[in-house]
Amino acid sequence: MITVSGLNKTFNQFPALSDINFTVNKGEVVSIIGPSGSGKSTLLRSLNLLVRPDSGQIQIGDKHINADTLTRRQTADFRRQTSMVFQHYNLFKNKTALENITEILRFTQKLNKAQARERGEELLAQVGLAHKAAAYPGTLSGGQQQRVGIARAMAVDPQVILFDEPTSSLDPEMRREVLNLIEGLAGRDLTMMIVTHEMGFARDVSDRIFFMEHGHIIEQGEPAKIFQTGSSNRTRSFLHDFA
Ligand code: ADP
Ligand code: MG
Repeated sequence: MITVSGLNKTFNQFPALSDINFTVNKGEVVSIIGPSGSGKSTLLRSLNLLVRPDSGQIQIGDKHINADTLTRRQTADFRRQTSMVFQHYNLFKNKTALENITEILRFTQKLNKAQARERGEELLAQVGLAHKAAAYPGTLSGGQQQRVGIARAMAVDPQVILFDEPTSSLDPEMRREVLNLIEGLAGRDLTMMIVTHEMGFARDVSDRIFFMEHGHIIEQGEPAKIFQTGSSNRTRSFLHDFA
C-alpha cells in the first residue's frame, strides 16, 4: 500500500529525515515511536505532502510521486490518498460536528447536501457521536472533538489514515475512549500509521513498530520484537526511560 524510498528532508540544513525507506502493506497498522524531534511528524507530513520532501519517492495505492519532479497538480491529487488526524483536532470552530464532516464530503466527494448529511450522520454514529451532530466543537470534550476528527478523516475514504499523536492533548480519562476507537478501526481493513507515545497501545494495536531517532528509522519490527528481547540497546533504553 505504501512504498517510500530514499526520502530526505532538511530544514535549514538540519536533516529532519535521512534516507527513509520502508513499505507498509494494505490493512497494516504501523506505530512510529521515538524521542521528540526525531522526525516522526515530518515523516507523516511528507506522506501527506504537507511537507515537501527534498528528494525521494513515495507510492501510496496506485499513485506515485517523485520529490524532484513534483508538480502542484500531482500534490493535490496525491494528498487525497491519505488523511490526517492531528494532535489538536484542527476542527472548524464555527461549524457543527456534522458540518465539519459534510463540508469535506461536499468538496472532495462532490456529494450533494442530502447525501453528505446522510453519510456524515453515519460517520458520527460510527464514532459514537450521533447525538452530537448539531454541537459546536467548543461544547464538546477533547475526546469527543478528536472522535469528530477521526470521523472526518474517514469521510474521504482514504487509502491510508495518518495519526499524529492523536491522544497527546487529552486528559488520561479521555485518552482511553479515543484509543479504543482507533483500536476498533485497526480491526477493520484500514491501513494506518500512528505516531504515539502510548507504548501499551502501540504494542497492542500495531502489526509493526518503527523506532525513529535523528531522522532515521533505526529499528522496525513486530511489537514482540521491539518490546522484548530482540530490540537494540538504543530502543531498549528509550523504552526504559519512557516507562
Ligand atoms: P517529532 O515529531 O519526532 O517530534 P518533527 O518531525 O516535528 O519531530 O521534527 C524533526 C526536526 O525537524 C526537529 O528538529 C524540528 O525542530 C525540525 N522541524 C520540523 N518542522 C520544521 C519546520 N517547519 N521548520 C524548521 N524545522 C522543523
Ligand atoms: Mg511530532
